[in-house]
Amino acid sequence: MNDKPVPAAYLIDMDGVIYLGNKLQPGAAEFVDYLKRKEIPFLFLTNNASLTPEGYRRKLEKLGIDVSADRFYTSAMATAEYMSENWPAGTPVYAIGIDGIREALRAKGFRLLKSHKGAKVVVVGFDPKITYARLREATLAISNGAVFIGTNPDVSLPTEHGIYPGNGAIIAALKAATGVEPIIIGKPSPTTFLEALKRLGTSPGETAMIGDRIETDIVGAQKVGLLTVFLTSGASGEEGLKRLTTPPDFVFRHLEEFLQWLKSHDD
Ligand SMILES: [Mg+2]
Repeated sequence: MNDKPVPAAYLIDMDGVIYLGNKLQPGAAEFVDYLKRKEIPFLFLTNNASLTPEGYRRKLEKLGIDVSADRFYTSAMATAEYMSENWPAGTPVYAIGIDGIREALRAKGFRLLKSHKGAKVVVVGFDPKITYARLREATLAISNGAVFIGTNPDVSLPTEHGIYPGNGAIIAALKAATGVEPIIIGKPSPTTFLEALKRLGTSPGETAMIGDRIETDIVGAQKVGLLTVFLTSGASGEEGLKRLTTPPDFVFRHLEEFLQWLKSHDD
């Protein structure tokens, strides 16, 4: 592992890497401080569509990490961008989700519906207030021919209390009810990684994706040629490594361990 190049820039996952629920992961604040002090480019890349960039900025601030809102690229933003490339502003959309996805869709001019009636697209982002009525309306819209889009495929959400159901679990319910396969945005989609790199202004070969989920963070990053840092203390755990054909470039327990390695390679 020691012959690997030191990455020049970072895309950083948040759930399971920076925090578990509302609890900071070991070394997270120190790692971000280190990047800021060394002026190393970084961007938070999260599949969690629940908060807006400003919401994430506030969440990190409360946890003692001070960064600006333009440091976040979320699956909600990626989904709204994808949709505005494919549907005109004003298109009626039925969305399951909270602030993050709703604000991103409104910002692109989409019309958010209260029921399935007239929906051309159904968008499913992480919704901690999911109800039967929301699942029912989405099911009706999809059955009536609306295009089915999911912001991200993550079936679980690691928290300080254990594993919670993630957006992929909500999508799975709609898939079961309708028999329709959704279009999935967010990691591991190459478009999401490439858009994040564009914002960072760095090339994949010098940039590392730091993540805790094999199927999204690591597999997706490998496909576009990013360096990969897999942290075993999050969603996939050490077990996850067995599901990879190409091992990650770096494997650590948490950011504290990775930071130690980085510091030992400081010139
Ligand atoms: Mg994660």
